Amino acid sequence: MGLNDSSPGAMRNGRGLSEQWAESVAVRPRTSERHMTVHKRLVLAFALSILTLIVVTVVAVVLGVRFEECVGPDEAPVGAGDSGSRGPGVSPKSNGSRGERVWDRGEEEAGQPWRRSRLPGSLRPRHYDIVLAICMDNFTFSGEVSIDIECLNTTRVIVLHADRLQVERVSVTTEGVAGGRAASRPGGGAIRIHRHFPFPANQMYVVVLHRELKANRSYRLNITFDAAIEDELLGFFRSSYMLQGERHYLAVTQFSPTHARKAFPCFDEPIYKATFSLSLRHDAQYTSLSNMPVESSRPAEDGLLTRRFARTPRMSTYYLAWALCNFTYRETHSDSGVTIRLYARPDAIASGAGDYALHITKRLLGFYQDYFKVQYSLPKLDLLAVPKHPYAAMENWGLSVFVEQKILLDADVSSSSYRMELTMVVIHEICHQWFGDLVTPMWWEDVWLKEGFAHFFEYVGTDFLYPKWNMEKQRFLTDVLHEVMLLDGLSSSHPISQEVQQATDIDRVFDWIAYKKGAALIRMLANVMGQRLFRKGLNDYLLSHMYGNAARDDLWKKLSQAMQSEGRDIDIGAVMDRWTLQMGYPVLTISKNQSEQLSTHYITVSQEHFLYGQEGRGNHSLQWQVPLTVAVGNESWVCSETLIWIHNKTERHWLVEMDDKSWLLGNINQTGYFRVNYDLQNWKLLIQQLHTRPQLISVGNRAGLIDDAFNLARAGYLPQGIPLQLIGYLPEETSFLPWHAASRALYQLDKLLDRTDDYSLFSDYVLKLVASRYHHMGWPSNVANGEGDVLLPSYHTEELQRELIMLACSFGNKQCHRQAVAYISDWISSNKNRIPPNIRDVVYCTGVSLMDEDVWEFIWMKFHSSKAVSEKKILLEALTCSDNAFLLNRLLNLSLTSELVAEQDAIDVIIHVGRNPQGRRLAWSFFRDKWDVLNARYGEALFMNSKLISGVTEFLTTEEELDELNHFIQSSGVGAGPALPRALEIVEGNVRWHRLHRRHFYQWLRKVPSLTYATWS
Ligand SMILES: [Zn+2]
Repeated sequence: MGLNDSSPGAMRNGRGLSEQWAESVAVRPRTSERHMTVHKRLVLAFALSILTLIVVTVVAVVLGVRFEECVGPDEAPVGAGDSGSRGPGVSPKSNGSRGERVWDRGEEEAGQPWRRSRLPGSLRPRHYDIVLAICMDNFTFSGEVSIDIECLNTTRVIVLHADRLQVERVSVTTEGVAGGRAASRPGGGAIRIHRHFPFPANQMYVVVLHRELKANRSYRLNITFDAAIEDELLGFFRSSYMLQGERHYLAVTQFSPTHARKAFPCFDEPIYKATFSLSLRHDAQYTSLSNMPVESSRPAEDGLLTRRFARTPRMSTYYLAWALCNFTYRETHSDSGVTIRLYARPDAIASGAGDYALHITKRLLGFYQDYFKVQYSLPKLDLLAVPKHPYAAMENWGLSVFVEQKILLDADVSSSSYRMELTMVVIHEICHQWFGDLVTPMWWEDVWLKEGFAHFFEYVGTDFLYPKWNMEKQRFLTDVLHEVMLLDGLSSSHPISQEVQQATDIDRVFDWIAYKKGAALIRMLANVMGQRLFRKGLNDYLLSHMYGNAARDDLWKKLSQAMQSEGRDIDIGAVMDRWTLQMGYPVLTISKNQSEQLSTHYITVSQEHFLYGQEGRGNHSLQWQVPLTVAVGNESWVCSETLIWIHNKTERHWLVEMDDKSWLLGNINQTGYFRVNYDLQNWKLLIQQLHTRPQLISVGNRAGLIDDAFNLARAGYLPQGIPLQLIGYLPEETSFLPWHAASRALYQLDKLLDRTDDYSLFSDYVLKLVASRYHHMGWPSNVANGEGDVLLPSYHTEELQRELIMLACSFGNKQCHRQAVAYISDWISSNKNRIPPNIRDVVYCTGVSLMDEDVWEFIWMKFHSSKAVSEKKILLEALTCSDNAFLLNRLLNLSLTSELVAEQDAIDVIIHVGRNPQGRRLAWSFFRDKWDVLNARYGEALFMNSKLISGVTEFLTTEEELDELNHFIQSSGVGAGPALPRALEIVEGNVRWHRLHRRHFYQWLRKVPSLTYATWS
């Protein structure tokens, strides 16, 4: 799954904030109401059907089920033909006829396997036949699912998942010996049902039988049911869009992680893989899609159409998908003959907005087949662009669903960061067709196995599409590694493999730690192993577990075997357990020492758990096995790196010959997931090196040194002046990545400082750093990109130019302001937008913040009329840049009440108002005032909720604000998941930084007379 984006500042990228999801779907009031209704109905059904039990069971199975067209849940017929609906509380005493044991309530109640959060494991589904009749007029559907079940352990109780389904009929028949041929009797032998009932607390449905199902035999479970197509982005849901003034509806599924049970009764845990045959019956004006190609399509006279889809391979329930829409498509074929289609709104298809994604998908299928040496498994792959989706995208096998903003590209108006984001989402989802669909994590605790891989491959895949960009060596550092180390350095972090039981916990595992730390650990491992052995191990892992499930130990085993095949004996499981089962990461401190006996230097390396707060640092129990690479250099040369494994708290190692001028550099190219600190003398030598000849240190390490230094200082491991001295070399820096690392750190500081009295000391310092490189790079020309839909090779240059403009304009460079204002004025007077797409967000925001209300109104109007999704997004965000409190308030209120602002965008409005120094208090108050509304709206989507919580709290820096946050948590913050404790820790850290470090920070800035190196030492 691709999480939804929200990176800090205007700095692009990242699929979602550190965050997660919700609260149990089961505990929502509406849900339990539905279940109440189901109970009542079952009792009624029982009253009507008590006389028809056994005979009708057989009849129902033989004849199949006739669907009532367009019958809503509230009008569903009950009774006639109802085979098994004996309501709760029926006494089963009269059934000893065939010598079966008489059911004993006490005996059966004692087990109550439905009270456990996981399925009991006595039964295994092998195949599902699903037939659904879908009515888009009243948004309901009715269905019959027929599940072939293998019995592993003798049991009298069938427990599976069902949520919000109104079950009408249940029957169970004997199918014969497991793995053998079906019973010769037509329909098999019916097994009498004692009772069946929902157990809403665990979203389960329970069928209690009169006699036992026997181990090693097969049975068939038939359930018919009705349900609604809800308007809420989970299960089988509906959404809509406007086309030529008319509203059009579509319905699509989102089953991951636990919502297949909202669409049909099933064994909804990833381990229960089965094959699926799906038939959809619906109004012929809709197109229907599913994982597999259409096998047959039968129109009926009543304007309905029945489409049967080919049988899927073995897969987990949460990868099943279907959709009904009025979309059109473009098509292509991969080299190996896979049909690839992109479905979207007809106007988007006609404008070519889907062509770029389609084009790269074709290339990516080839790339992955070649990389993994495993063919794509299905005959087709559809990409479906929907207007509303809870995630950026979902990798359903053969039918991946994307929110429009992550797949449609209007080439003329999109920035390169928008294209890059979109490219990465597509690469991510295509990777999942192997890591996820084909080989599925055994259970949700290891969801990072699929998400970490897909996230890592976003960078590897981009390097395949655009080989010159070095994304995996460069952009990965700032966007993944630096980003996640911020979060994972908090004591409220958690291990990447988390124990998960309840449905509530399952949603929580989809967070930044799973995605970004997962990717960072995989990258570290790939670098230690070397590309060739890493690929060999992955190939073996995929081949061994295809169409099945795997746990992390299965992966470690295959990777260890790959290493052993070349005589490198390393227990990868033992190493990686430290990284996956422990939270956080270490900071390694390297120092150079003079040996007393010998006239040489040696190094000492010590490790400790890196934490921003000092409180948790006494915890000495955490230790890692760290693959540390070290290089030694001086002004003119650098020796090649050495790999040292650090196992202990402190170790001593001898490297090459060193002298007093030699510096040490650890974690070469930042391939490791840890920070490195040095003795002060070594920091000085490194800083000196950067000022004199920065290129001797790799781009990745220059960015890494910046990020490490700022974060070590922030956490109090280093004096505040060190990172500031270090970035003093930036005027000489010509590469994008170090600038990007620095600007991230500077924006972090900006949030801490921008309401302090001495703020201008800081902003002046940043402006001086930026000025010369900013003037040197200038502004982009607005000549349209001739290719239209490909990213230019000059990507890094463009990004550096954009980064500098952003820094210059946001810290108050006058020339930058004039340029932005001129662009906006030209747009207003000519009504032609000549602003280069790559910097439109910066220009719009700067214009709105500096110019009068008319500009705000102008942008608001453009937001209404714009059709391109990327443009709409930045126009809306620009409106939050005003310093007019009245306008900001109006916008905040509109975001919750206006049809014009999509639900998922309202959160961005509030967060962006919070990023505006003039809007911080407003956003924070608005958030607290509207908490009930917001929590009702987004509470279930914890991911959005915690993105919102961190967005409106991260800039709180005073004791008073800390009290406000504490008060809010105590009075209203119950049940908001881990976001509030984390927010509290961040704000406590902000307050602590002000208390302990602000004075030193400003002292250093006061003393620094200029930015040249000569004046520093
Ligand atoms: Zn994913």
